[in-house]
Amino acid sequence: MAKKIVVIGAGAWGGWTAFHLQMAGYEVTLIDQYGAGNALSGSGDLTRIIRMAYGGDKNYSALTARSFELWRKYSKEFNTQMIYVRKALWMFRGINPAYAEESVPLMSEMGFKLEELPVDILKDQYPQINFEDISRAYLEHDSAYLLASESCQQVFRQFQLCGGAFVQEKVTELVRKGSEVSAVRLANGELVIADCFVLACGPWLKQLVPEVSEFIKVSRQEVYYFNVPETYHNLPIWVEFREGEEMFYGIPDHFRHGFKFAYDERTWLLDPDNDHRYITEEILEKMKGILSNRFPLLADPKVLRHHTCVYENSPDGDFIIDRVPEAGNAIMMAGSSGHGFKMGPALGELITEHLMNSRPIPKAFSFDRFKNSFQVKTQYQLK
Ligand SMILES: Cc1cc2nc3c(=O)[nH]c(=O)nc-3n(C[C@H](O)[C@H](O)[C@H](O)COP(=O)(O)OP(=O)(O)OC[C@H]3O[C@@H](n4cnc5c(N)ncnc54)[C@H](O)[C@@H]3O)c2cc1C
Repeated sequence: MAKKIVVIGAGAWGGWTAFHLQMAGYEVTLIDQYGAGNALSGSGDLTRIIRMAYGGDKNYSALTARSFELWRKYSKEFNTQMIYVRKALWMFRGINPAYAEESVPLMSEMGFKLEELPVDILKDQYPQINFEDISRAYLEHDSAYLLASESCQQVFRQFQLCGGAFVQEKVTELVRKGSEVSAVRLANGELVIADCFVLACGPWLKQLVPEVSEFIKVSRQEVYYFNVPETYHNLPIWVEFREGEEMFYGIPDHFRHGFKFAYDERTWLLDPDNDHRYITEEILEKMKGILSNRFPLLADPKVLRHHTCVYENSPDGDFIIDRVPEAGNAIMMAGSSGHGFKMGPALGELITEHLMNSRPIPKAFSFDRFKNSFQVKTQYQLK
């Protein structure tokens, strides 16, 4: 009989993991308190970026490249488009473009194209963008945007079609027996017993694994979708780094949902269940200022929609994928740190192959790394 596995969390990580495990022959029960890709989770919202450039980090570039293949493969197999190929423009204002520069050799080794382009050429190529204050820029050719919440729901549907079981409830406790977890307790008091457990709980993980509390900060990020003229619809995805470690990014219009624009801010902490998710005039005004400088025709763009998203940050911006402390049969997938969505398919495959044939999980993702000294940084700062 197939081994029983419980996966907690039907976001990008848990959903893909449950799908791969079920396809591999395990008997999987997926549990989520609010449902696949729900709006309160890190995987809520409309779209996410997939890009290969990772400052020369081999783990992430390999996971992203594999995910790119899998997003395409499963878009075909599910008969639904989850991935939209677009170039990505990396712009640097007044700072060293080390992150892009370091990415170039690995990209080329892997067969992908990331090239520095003179600003004068880009001005001609993208007359909608103001490059006056941009010092260096790179164009990534193999990137795309992904549907976020919608893809989670697709993967979830496919998981169910393959025979996977789903329970919509909150898991309140890991029931332990010696050095293992024997079951999870649900909010309704029921127990779900399994041989193995995968916790992909995003911002809620510390409720079940208090040991991670010190190492996970949950923060909020406001995302806006602006109404823009037709000439802006075919722009590349763009990422802009500025002095003071500020970072902004955008995705061109998706079927009139608007031009996505966000400020990558991580200091405003959020309780994912209880805090307000309102948007703030202060951030909106800041965003409009940045937008009208970079895209001069967008002097006072109208907001079509907005979303307050939740980031689950590890101290060093790296994932935490490891055994749950003192539980040999439970794996936690955490610390997605604002860049994990794209890698859902490859991480689901990794966990499945890890459980089936002991495929190693990169040491860089171990929880134990925090026992030693570690660098406090985001994913965009080089080691
Ligand atoms: C604004 C924003 C922009 C981003 N942009 C990008 C991007 O461009 N590219 C990229 O790759 N990544 C991006 N990310 C990051 C990415 O979205 C997240 O890393 C990813 O979605 C996290 O997925 P997850 O499955 O780990 O967590 P989540 O999506 O948060 O899923 C966790 C799930 O677990 C469930 N759950 C938790 N605890 C319990 C419990 N006790 N019982 C039952 N269910 C439980 C929750 O209901 C939830 O559905 C962005 C994030 C944000 C917020």
